[in-house]
Amino acid sequence: MKKTTTRSSNSARGEVSHTKKRSVITIPQRTKNSSHIKPKPFQKQKPIKRIQPNKKLPELSKGNIRIIPLGGVEEVGKNMMLVEYQNDILVFDAGVQFTTEEDAPGIDYIIPNTKYLEGKKDKIRGLIVTHGHLDHIGGIPYIIERIGNPPIYTSELTSIMIQKKMDDFPTHPPLNFKIVQAGEKIKLGNLKVKFFPVTHSIPQALGTSIETPYGNIVITGDLKLEHSDGVPSEKEEKVWGNIGQDNNLLLIADSTNVEKPGYSMSEKIVYDNIEQIIKNTKGRLIIGTFASQFERMIKIIEIAEKYGKKIITEGRGIKVNIEIAKIVKLFEPKKGTIISAKEVDNYPPDRIVILATGSQGEEFAALMRMSIKQHKHIFLNEKDTVVLSSSVIPGNEISVRKLEDNLYRHNLKIIHYRTSDVHSTGHGNAQELAWIHQKVGARFFIPAYGHHSMLKVHAEIVKSLGFPDKNTIVPDDGSIVEIQNQGQKINLLKDKVPSGIVMVDGFSIGDMQEVVIRDRQNLAQDGIFVVIAMVDLSTGKLKKSPDIISRGFIYLRESQNLLKQARYITKQTIERMVKGAKPIDFDCVKKEMTNNVSRYLFQSTNKRPVVIPVILGV
Ligand SMILES: [Zn+2]
Repeated sequence: MKKTTTRSSNSARGEVSHTKKRSVITIPQRTKNSSHIKPKPFQKQKPIKRIQPNKKLPELSKGNIRIIPLGGVEEVGKNMMLVEYQNDILVFDAGVQFTTEEDAPGIDYIIPNTKYLEGKKDKIRGLIVTHGHLDHIGGIPYIIERIGNPPIYTSELTSIMIQKKMDDFPTHPPLNFKIVQAGEKIKLGNLKVKFFPVTHSIPQALGTSIETPYGNIVITGDLKLEHSDGVPSEKEEKVWGNIGQDNNLLLIADSTNVEKPGYSMSEKIVYDNIEQIIKNTKGRLIIGTFASQFERMIKIIEIAEKYGKKIITEGRGIKVNIEIAKIVKLFEPKKGTIISAKEVDNYPPDRIVILATGSQGEEFAALMRMSIKQHKHIFLNEKDTVVLSSSVIPGNEISVRKLEDNLYRHNLKIIHYRTSDVHSTGHGNAQELAWIHQKVGARFFIPAYGHHSMLKVHAEIVKSLGFPDKNTIVPDDGSIVEIQNQGQKINLLKDKVPSGIVMVDGFSIGDMQEVVIRDRQNLAQDGIFVVIAMVDLSTGKLKKSPDIISRGFIYLRESQNLLKQARYITKQTIERMVKGAKPIDFDCVKKEMTNNVSRYLFQSTNKRPVVIPVILGV
């Protein structure tokens, strides 16, 4: 018996064995065609073109400086940027972007496209990492070998966060970390890089200033300002005042929160509020926060100690990061402050503060497990108070809503950022960014870290400060920005470096293609329709009526007519094509079967399930 199958879209390679190595898939820049909107009416889907052709890019002229954002200027995430001058390339950050299930079902995340760097490995002097958030470090395990494993210059805390990521890749060669500190200056090739401290929602975040012959290029990394009521602190005045002393050629600055007016809420207000809550809450207090909010977690533990309360940490991220905080000596909790979840009932409820992960409604995180009564030791009741000390990351609205609903089922009290100041952002608002822009006083400006619209708003704000329009460039991922004429001119080249989206897809086989993603979208939308036909090879007739298996498409029992017709079309197609053919071209038969069945299903249901033909020759 001969058995063959193909997928309707030739992606059969995507369905089998697992290997240890994670695969990286490259697909072209997102276009209107690749959105999740269903194309209608029925037409054969055009294959998406593979990547931009490897067009020869113009060489970098001797005196020019090239700045190329490889990611992070058309989205929030996958931040990566490079500065190239003569024989030296410095790379800044290598982040990931999380995907939504609609855009790319089953895809873990998207990483920057490093193709441009892969041909220039010998020029790369280092990867400089500004801070330890995943949108700045998460791509490192996937790209570091592709760019020749250069040394990584970063702060101690960030290096530990990166190393922790690498633990998931045990076969990876060790990374070469060079720990740097704010205030330090290092030489990389013919360029010098100065590090300075910036305020962000993770400790040891660094801004960088690159000395070039025409002036300095200041890259802020993510940041906000420490301030009270819109007056930047002395620390900020000093740091930015110093930077402002330099001859600054170009400022590249964070745009994430630029659409919000004024100054961002200061973290001090959050601490004061949380202190009041910890002090005054009568029952148990459960605080959900981001595990990377080191300072806030530490503050919560210190406040708990102040009021004689015990802390229970729930969730791997929080436990790990508290250990990291101790290693880099950010704090040292008193002995006995942190107790295990098992001991929760050994103390009166008003002495218990639980720090938990999962404030984004993540399915398996501690908060969700508590809310659906799946936690081993912590059972919620109406005397509990839950504080969600975080904002809702765009895209997580539904899961957060679900979490809140589940929590409220216990008739407890919820305090969140919309009703009370229990969270502040790590990114500066418009006025903060304007203040930084004026302090730095650079000749040119590139807004970064955000969607295109955010970058444009940032450019507008800078313009309103009197900054000449022609000195601002709003780039796309892969844009080549050049500083020319000995630092007198900034120019956006017509050419772009490869910037097609690169995806990471768990543990899957190597060479998967964009059709796999499209299949998943189709499966999620319209389900699957498998037609199995048994052909008598001697007569060319079907042995029996074809079998049909379908999932997520229609309710078969109530669709007998449709099934009957699909069987009829299958039988007609096969018998017509097999008649007199020797040898039989099964691939051809299956293709025709797929086309005919798909067209019929679309015409009668307006749905486009993935059709899989199976022919058994006997
Ligand atoms: Zn960040």
